[in-house]
This record gives sequence, C-alpha cells and structure tokens, in this order.
Amino acid sequence: MPAPSPSRVRRIRKDPSSAAVAANVPDYGRARATFTWAAARAALDGLPGGNGLNIAHEAVDRHVAAGRGEHCAIRWRGRKGAGREVSYADLAAESSRFAGVLADLGVQPGDRVFACCGRVPELYVAVLGTFKLGAVFCPLFSAFGPEPLRQRLSLGAAKVLVTTSALYTRKIAKLRDELPDLEHVLLVDAEAVDGDDGVWALAPLLAAQRADWRIPPTDPESPALLHFTSGTTGTPKGAVHVHEAVVAHHATGAMALDLHPDDVFWCTADPGWVTGTSYGIISPLTHGITLVVDEGEFDARRWYGMLEDERVTVWYTAPTAVRMLMRAGAELARERDLDALRFIASVGEPLNAEAVIWADETLGMPIHDNWWQTETGGIMVANYLSMDIKPGSMGRPLPGVEATILERDAEGHARLVDGRPVEVSEPGGEGELALRAGWPSMFRAYLNEPERYRSCFAGGWYLTGDLVRCDTEGYFWFVGRGDDVIKTSGHLIGPFEVESVLLEHPAVAEAGVIGIPDPVAGELIKAFVLLAPGIPASDALRRELVAHARRRLGASVAPREIAFSESLPHTRSGKIMRRLLRAQELGLDRGDLSTLEPVA
Ligand code: ATP
Ligand code: MG
Repeated sequence: MPAPSPSRVRRIRKDPSSAAVAANVPDYGRARATFTWAAARAALDGLPGGNGLNIAHEAVDRHVAAGRGEHCAIRWRGRKGAGREVSYADLAAESSRFAGVLADLGVQPGDRVFACCGRVPELYVAVLGTFKLGAVFCPLFSAFGPEPLRQRLSLGAAKVLVTTSALYTRKIAKLRDELPDLEHVLLVDAEAVDGDDGVWALAPLLAAQRADWRIPPTDPESPALLHFTSGTTGTPKGAVHVHEAVVAHHATGAMALDLHPDDVFWCTADPGWVTGTSYGIISPLTHGITLVVDEGEFDARRWYGMLEDERVTVWYTAPTAVRMLMRAGAELARERDLDALRFIASVGEPLNAEAVIWADETLGMPIHDNWWQTETGGIMVANYLSMDIKPGSMGRPLPGVEATILERDAEGHARLVDGRPVEVSEPGGEGELALRAGWPSMFRAYLNEPERYRSCFAGGWYLTGDLVRCDTEGYFWFVGRGDDVIKTSGHLIGPFEVESVLLEHPAVAEAGVIGIPDPVAGELIKAFVLLAPGIPASDALRRELVAHARRRLGASVAPREIAFSESLPHTRSGKIMRRLLRAQELGLDRGDLSTLEPVA
C-alpha cells in the first residue's frame, strides 16, 4: 500500500506551556524510559492489611478513607432531564450494601453477575458491589434483543441479573427456562417484588443491608470482569479480566486521558462495552474525579448541551459520534460555551484526519485518537496532551507497553520461523500489531475457548489481528483489521485509507470500503458512501468522488465502484460492519448479527 506522501502528513503542534493544566506526560520519551508497572501499582493502595488488590477499593473506598467522601463521583442526567448527584461516600455505602445483598442471596466469589439496564446510577452501584464481593461482573447492552441476551447469559452462566422491570418483562422472562444457572433477577426500578421465581426489587434489599461491608482478601489475579467483544468481525468473544487490571485503568487514565483530580469527565460509551466500563467507570473513579453519565442517546444538540452545562473538562468519545457531530454542522458547536473543555480523546475505530482537524477548528482543540481492544482491557497506543498530533495516526504506545509489527504469512497469520514471529524490519513496513504480553489489564482468557486464547500469542507477543505501520518518529498508523484488508492487483489495502480519502470530500459523511472478488485483480475496491445532509446522489457526484480518490490514492487503490447508501451497518458500539457490507454485496451468509445496530 502506498504510504501517504510526507507533504500530506499534517501535524498539529502542541505547546505544553499553553495547556490549562500541567500534562501528566510532559515528555513522552522520558515517561517511556522511566515508567514501570510496579510503580504504577504502588500508586494504588491495595486492600488494607496487605490483603491483595480489589478494583472497588481503589475506585471508591480509598477516596472515602482519604477524606474525599463528599466529592461528587457521578453526576447523572436522566433521559428526560432529571438529575442526581452521587458522592464517593454514597457510592461506597451503596456498593457495600449491594455486596451484602449478593452475599445473602448465596452468591459466591467467582460467580457471575450480569447487568442489562440503561445508564442509571444503580448500574454503577452493582458493578462496584460485585467487585466488593469478589464476583465477576458482565455488562450487557440494554438494547440487545432476546437472542443476544440469551446467548451471552448462557455462555457466561449468569447467576444474577440486574435489570429493569420493563426489560425483564419484555426480554428476559421468556428466556428463564433456557437459563438454568440464572437464580436471581434484581430489578433496579421496582418498589416491592417479593422474590417469586428469584425476581426481587433491588431497593428494599439494599435498604435492609448495612453499609460497612469489608472487602474480603482479593487475589489480584482473580477474575473481575467478563466483556464480550463488539462482534465486528464475527461472533463476539468473551474476554476475562482480573482485578490487577485496575493498575492499567488508573495509569492509562492519567497518561492517555490526562485525568487530574478536579476534572469533570464524560465517557460517552455505554458500559455494555469495555470502554464504558474501563473508562466510563473504573479509571475515572480510581482518580477520584467526577464523572458525567448521560442516560440519553446521541443527539447533537443534547451532547453539546451536556458539554456546556456540565462543564465537562475531559471528553472521551468515538469516531462515529464525531462524524455525526460533523454532519450536524459546526454552527451547533459555535453556539455553545465550551471553555471548560480542555482535552478530547476518541477510540473504537480509525479516526480520520479530517475529523481531528475539524475538531481543532471547531472545538478549539484536536481529538486525541487512541487504540485498544476488549482484549487489552485498557488504552495501549495514544496521542498525549503534550505530544504533537499527526492527524490520522493513533499515536505512540503507552509507557509500559511494548509494541511491534510482525510479518504475516499468506493466510494472514503471524509468520513463524522456528516457532517465533518475525518483526517487520523495513521502516514504514506494514504488518500485524503485536504487544509484549504481560501488562496488567491483558485479558486472561476467552470464555470457554482456551485454544483460541492460546492462538493469540506467539513468542511472548500478543497478536492483535490489526494491521498497522509505524513511521520514523514512532507514530503508529492503522491500516485495517486483518479480516478487512483488501488484496488488489498485488497491493494490500486497508479500507481505512480509502475511507479517509473519501471523507475528505465535503459531500461525504461516512464511507465503508470492501473488496469484491475479481478474476483479474484478485479483489476490486468498492465503496459505500453516505452523503452529507442535503446532498443529492448523482452520477456526476459519483464520478467526482472517483476522480478525487484517484487523484489522492492513484488509480490502482481508488475504488472502482461507489454506491450511495442511506445508511451503513454499524455495531451497537458504533463501528462500521464491513463484513456485513461484503456479505450483502456477495449474497453470503450474514453471520452473527447480535451486535448489529438496527436502522432507525
Ligand atoms: P470483534 O473482535 O468481535 O470482531 P471488535 O474487534 O470491534 O469486535 P472491540 O474489542 O470492541 O471489538 O474493538 C477493538 C477493535 O476496534 C480493534 O482491534 C481495532 O480494530 C478497532 N479500533 C479500536 N480503536 C481504534 C483506533 N483508534 N483506530 C483504529 N481502529 C481501532
Ligand atoms: Mg476484535
């Protein structure tokens, strides 16, 4: 694949002296040279008496012990505008009561507690209370239909489910016969339900508990979280994380999100996904800061209103959301007073250069892209507050994270020589991103799939399945997922590069690019394009887009075909499902659709 010519690589320079706060990573090189995970672990408390490490203690109890109990932990805004504030002391007490409820129901350490509810304060209480008991928490996205719910509850052998009355009646009740392990259902919004069929109103159970629960000794290696992947490339996998992960949640929150004690932090990801848990709950709480939780769904006006009214200082969101804000127009942002905002980051999908530059011009600061996966449990590659940004690059590996690029064989697997993978030696060469195994939030298993887990490692490296390249300054550039890469006329092409070029054109709001089989070229590139509001589709525009792509990418890499679409298929976490575009185009089996976002 052609590397972008150096003149095309833009750079957003950072001037650390003008930042609103002193950056946590003022000097990237120095931080890399001096950082150790042992020191990061020492920055946390550990359970009193040397009784191990428990996420809930680090996230809430220790702040109360340190006299910060009155600080606001969660500022919640309901769907219809209602608001509620939960202090660290409240959260510590309520989560202790939740642990007591679980204990009285006979839940044992290691048992699995699932939640399927919207972003309501009880969800946060349940997560932390589950950790306090030593049970394993698994969040489910509340918009899942019955089948994805059944699949995950069953795979994870859920013993307890925290949900709402409506979700229970509509989706779960009819599944109970198929879920023999599910003993108890706790309804967050019911006043009085007496435990028939193991269905309870949570509030009276909490009220009957004491708030002085003592967290039992917790082995840092004991499982804490089960997270299903987004299902972008196939059937979702269940990744298991342990309490030790909190070391990475805390350290990466400081380094990649630049969290400071007085921050008001808004992570827009739903806790049903790993981002919404690692950074929507755990990381900010370990920093003792205020997190903003919006129960409502995406709406450009609402979101700008949240940023302004809540005086958000650090905002962590996703490329799809940014592209939707861009579609809604810069005027909406300019009407608002966003002067509290000082840092924006994004994750989940490649962030095209245009989006970074748009934010710089419209919001007064660039977006800091970062990269990680459900499996890595925390941010692994990032752009930092003090470091120049090269729009389109996902940044440089976190201090403490060793990343490399491995050669791939014809099947797309890491090429092994004498059982060891081979690192790409040529500068700027493409290959599979791999991380030196052993960082604290690395997943410890794929649920029920030990062989699949083992196959993710070779020669001490964790193989991510994503293709990247690295420039001479050590910035990583995302090329594509191994499964999405297109082979055409001898070139290997990542869809992201083609999509990014299409997104440079003002008529294009979103683009998904796939390869379709061709007897001569191997594959031909086809792009599905969603146009910006008010732009009509026409053959002239199609020709113009092809010409633009050819100019920017060259004839062999530009799409041969462009189709205008009303919408592109996304996962519920906002990623373009290129495998579905391909299946639809080629009339293939559409595979697992459990995470597909329904089109409104
Ligand atoms: P599945 O593994 O089920 O197919 P998924 O990989 O989308 O789903 P996640 O773990 O939620 O599930 O997403 C991680 C993936 O998202 C990464 O492997 C990468 O492909 C993509 N990704 C995340 N952040 C970025 C980023 N900043 N730039 C490019 N891609 C990213
Ligand atoms: Mg994945």
